[in-house]
Amino acid sequence: MPDQPKLIDLSHTVAHGLVTYKGLPGPIICDYLSREASRKLYSPGTEFQIGKIEMVANTGTYLDSPFHRYPDGKDLSELELQKLANLPAIKISPSKQTIDASCFPGGADLAGKAVLVETGWSRHWNTPQYFEGHPFLTEDAARFLSDSGAALVGIDSYNIDDVADLRRPVHSILLKNEIPIVEHMTNLAAVPPTDFRFFAVPVKVKSFGSFPVRAFAIV
Ligand SMILES: [Zn+2]
Repeated sequence: MPDQPKLIDLSHTVAHGLVTYKGLPGPIICDYLSREASRKLYSPGTEFQIGKIEMVANTGTYLDSPFHRYPDGKDLSELELQKLANLPAIKISPSKQTIDASCFPGGADLAGKAVLVETGWSRHWNTPQYFEGHPFLTEDAARFLSDSGAALVGIDSYNIDDVADLRRPVHSILLKNEIPIVEHMTNLAAVPPTDFRFFAVPVKVKSFGSFPVRAFAIV
């Protein structure tokens, strides 16, 4: 169909028991009100299900707000929609584990944009390999992205930081500068390098740092 924008889903499916991050529990998904139990509340033939989910904030494909790292940083409810939706976007595809500033184009190309980093690591999602040896950004890459005025940074890996570096410099620098982070993305191969828009909007929860998003691109 001409003039019909193409929507590309960049999100993992959240499922009962599926662990996103090693050491954190997978979500518990169940009925709060089952269809069967609802029948006595409505007319014959009319039924509903109300689900209940218990999960840590960092589940599935999710967005980190500054509050995730800093107690005085903006929480999910304080993020401006302009920083989360309809962002002009660029994708880089470095084929190495340690992604430094040299992997990114000139800063002028990044200003105001969502910068998505395709590593291909999402192919290991829901396997033990996902937790070991993932690609990550370096501290100088985070500084470069921040200095370049990037609006948001996303990655299809297990953590945007090297999990061995307990200072978590990439989270620290980006979130200090109010640049939200999207992690555990998938399907980035389907997105072109440039000329697309990116959306990753979490629920507006007060005093909360991270939340799953339905991340997607419009090409
Ligand atoms: Zn994070």
